Amino acid sequence: MLSLAACSSDASANGDCNVGISMPTRSLERWINDGEQLQKQLEEADCTVDLQYADNKTSQQISQIQNQIAGGAQVLVIAPIDGEALGPVLDQAKKQDAVVISYDRLIEGTENVDYLATFDNFQVGELQGKYIEEQLGLADGAGPFNFEPFTGSPDDPNAGFFFSGAWDVLLPYVENGQLVVRSGKSPASNKDWASIGIPGWASDKAQAEMDNRLSSFYTGSDKVDAILSPNDSLAIGIIASLNSASYSPGDEYPIITGQDADKANVKAILDGKQSMTVLKDTRELGDRVFQMIQSIIAGDVPETTDTETYDNGKKVVPAFVLTPLVVTKDDVQTKLIDSGFIDAEDVGL
Ligand code: BGC
Repeated sequence: MLSLAACSSDASANGDCNVGISMPTRSLERWINDGEQLQKQLEEADCTVDLQYADNKTSQQISQIQNQIAGGAQVLVIAPIDGEALGPVLDQAKKQDAVVISYDRLIEGTENVDYLATFDNFQVGELQGKYIEEQLGLADGAGPFNFEPFTGSPDDPNAGFFFSGAWDVLLPYVENGQLVVRSGKSPASNKDWASIGIPGWASDKAQAEMDNRLSSFYTGSDKVDAILSPNDSLAIGIIASLNSASYSPGDEYPIITGQDADKANVKAILDGKQSMTVLKDTRELGDRVFQMIQSIIAGDVPETTDTETYDNGKKVVPAFVLTPLVVTKDDVQTKLIDSGFIDAEDVGL
């Protein structure tokens, strides 16, 4: 636990530590962990905290933030649903000098965002792309392999970072024919990622999309060899689709990537259905944001690591950028369980 000095009960009694936390949805385990951890840390430091989840609905998120502003929030911690939709509500936040921390996802199109705390999301995609490259032996010239890429929600700027990281590694192999995208759903460049995006990062939409690709392009004995899934919620849908198409773990099961280390996906990794996930340790992100808030309340400038990269169209947002980590079957124990990220019994160990 961090030092609570700056966010003390005195600060709270003076009305100086009032924090609004706005998370996108409870439908994904990671956002529940993020919100609850930060709330707990802040409440232990005697801050007033309002934690809200917005059901992945932008209008709901905006009205929740409005309420937090009306409730006197001094700091707003926001993981936006739509990166570009918060300009007007953040104008209101600025009028009462609230400090805005963009959480995990970059808030775009407004000057009224003060800091970003996130992971290196380009690197998340790069780790996924390199995993596929290594497992298939692409650098040694192996192939051709059947390959299907997926991308995240078109309104989430992180989805573009994930895809760029992966596509920088994989596009050359698509272009030289080592990777064959039978569905044709292969963006010509990094910038075109949203053309194949799965709205709301919804598992059922990813499942329906995979069903379509399998039934239209993989008939008879044709099998898909590798699938780029940018996160775990999409991977769950893709795996469900493969299950109904009678793929079963073993030599012919495709490589499937993921991100978040959600429990259901860790189980799938242990069962041989998902190949890897990228862990973004939400505890580290929460600690970092807690430290940022402590600095802000104390009247100091929070520490950042990158003041050049995160251009939101109106300003370059100073960011603290954390490092993601690959997890495979071999290191579920060491990286997830020994570190306390998940409990062994939650994944059947
Ligand atoms: C987050 C991922 C998450 C996805 C869906 C992204 O912005 O960075 O961790 O899986 O949203 O909620």
